Amino acid sequence: MVRNRSRAALRGDNITQVRRRNRAMILELVLREPGTCRRDIVHKTGLTAAAVSDITRELINEGLVTEEAMEDRKVGRNPVGLAIVKDAALAIGGLVHRDHVVVGLSNLAGQIVFSRQMSADCASVEAAQSALVDLAKVAATYADDVGRPIVGMGVSIPGMVVPETGSVRYSSILDWQDVKLAERLQRNIFYPIVIDNDVRGMALARYWFQDQSHEQFVMVYVGRGIACCSLRNGSIWAGNSGAAGQIGHSILDPNGPKCACGQHGCFEAMVSDKRLVDMTAEAVQNGAISSIGLDELLAGRVDMDRIYAAIEDGDEAARAAYRTLSRYLGIGLSNLIKIYDPQAVIVAGDIFRASKFATDLMKKEMRSHFLSEQASPDILVDENPALPLLGSATLALDRLVFRPEVTTDGTP
Ligand SMILES: [Zn+2]
Repeated sequence: MVRNRSRAALRGDNITQVRRRNRAMILELVLREPGTCRRDIVHKTGLTAAAVSDITRELINEGLVTEEAMEDRKVGRNPVGLAIVKDAALAIGGLVHRDHVVVGLSNLAGQIVFSRQMSADCASVEAAQSALVDLAKVAATYADDVGRPIVGMGVSIPGMVVPETGSVRYSSILDWQDVKLAERLQRNIFYPIVIDNDVRGMALARYWFQDQSHEQFVMVYVGRGIACCSLRNGSIWAGNSGAAGQIGHSILDPNGPKCACGQHGCFEAMVSDKRLVDMTAEAVQNGAISSIGLDELLAGRVDMDRIYAAIEDGDEAARAAYRTLSRYLGIGLSNLIKIYDPQAVIVAGDIFRASKFATDLMKKEMRSHFLSEQASPDILVDENPALPLLGSATLALDRLVFRPEVTTDGTP
């Protein structure tokens, strides 16, 4: 935080900008440490008591922060604790999957208070755009009905995104290239729109609402594809061109199966839901027993939850498939540890919430490649099924409410 202030000074930012940055620092402290008092804020931020008093008054007047008496102090006048007014405003979150769109509303405490889903063939940009607009209108009506203002909309995309221009450079999952999504959405949605990669949203949601114990962590999502995001003190390491974290297309085996991006043996071609289905079918064809029919597997009609449950229940074919797949998962994730050297790796994905077997094997495979000289990070599994949706709303909260100026940073 101090670094941010000194950077601001170096750039010759004017007083208004410095004040906004200070305001973000205070809001961050109040959000992450409810009940914190002005004196603690002065101590932790290095700001003057007058500046803290002035900015907290502004936040209280705006209705974002409230005062509460603290009763656990023994001597003297009780300091007044500060807390976020969680329902002061809502942010819309939008998630674009290949075959459907999800839109929800989060309050300032990261609680999803509304969500709706709509089927859409999102290989078509127009279909995705139309579903996002329709659902955003439904969400706005809900917010109106409960009398809450909307601060903006965050949209998460599985792929490479340039947040500054609101455009999607490439998504192999959606089969999109150079889509000016913010510009398209802004024709019908009149709130500010923030667009970024889905895993970055998840990492920010963990930072603001769930994880208080790690200053630096790597968030990884494993599902239809794979991507990661490194966060240090809440700042995303976006890389030189903004594409950092697109590990799904790092190559694990040049002789591996062809990936949607055109290369062979990409991480997400070796380890993905589709690969798991294909490998399970292969195991059945090689004689392994399975509760899932070969026809369903070959046709790709099987619900992934059934595969995850089969892994957990000891299904011979599904476990054989996952064992092979987890070896590559372990290699890919341990490579990340060597690149980022994080305090923690937080892995999200339905498979890990559904199967302890899958989680334990993933951790074991990962640890088997750690170097003995290197510190071993915590490996955590995110248990919140709403994390992707919360992540998309958090993109808007982070950029528009919590830290209106601080976007991406230049340090990993
Ligand atoms: Zn690829």
